[in-house]
Amino acid sequence: MKTKKYDIYSYWSDKAITKSGEVKRIGECTDGEEAVKVTELPDEIFCWACQCPPYRTADTEDSKVLWNKDTLLDRAHILPRSKGGDDSPANLFLLCPNCHAEAPDTTNPRNFFSWIYYRRRHEVYSQLSEQEVRRAAEIRGIDLERLFSAASGMDPDQMRAQLIERCGLHGGAISRSSKAMAILDILEDYVARQRL
Ligand SMILES: [Zn+2]
Repeated sequence: MKTKKYDIYSYWSDKAITKSGEVKRIGECTDGEEAVKVTELPDEIFCWACQCPPYRTADTEDSKVLWNKDTLLDRAHILPRSKGGDDSPANLFLLCPNCHAEAPDTTNPRNFFSWIYYRRRHEVYSQLSEQEVRRAAEIRGIDLERLFSAASGMDPDQMRAQLIERCGLHGGAISRSSKAMAILDILEDYVARQRL
């Protein structure tokens, strides 16, 4: 049987990753280590690397049920199975399919944690989206500054909801370009609706 996601969450909920790729308890980290917490809140499910897709569920739901029924995140092995890694919560990390495919798969866990740390600091979902959206606008020949100012009143929660709807986040990995393209479509639809 697969390791329960709530058990994986519980194990990591009090852990942080330091700048040098070490795993420590949150309370034991010093300011100089600039550690990032692995998880944030018990009812917020998102990739522990890029933080995509930041989806929040009803506060009333039991967090154990919530984690165990999640279908968005993969159980990534820190020490690969083929190199003797087991299925204990300490050797599993919850990642989106994109990050799972890209994360280093070596016998040195430090590679894995340094990569996670870098992703959290420099390549989280929202930062990536901005770079990718600029590229997508260039590909599609859209004046992004004009689109952004026309759509500036759009509610971020609405964007999030529509992205999940349009990109089928419940399925397998989606390329970053499809997310970026979908963002353009959502903004354009929003602007078109404002004009009606
Ligand atoms: Zn991810």
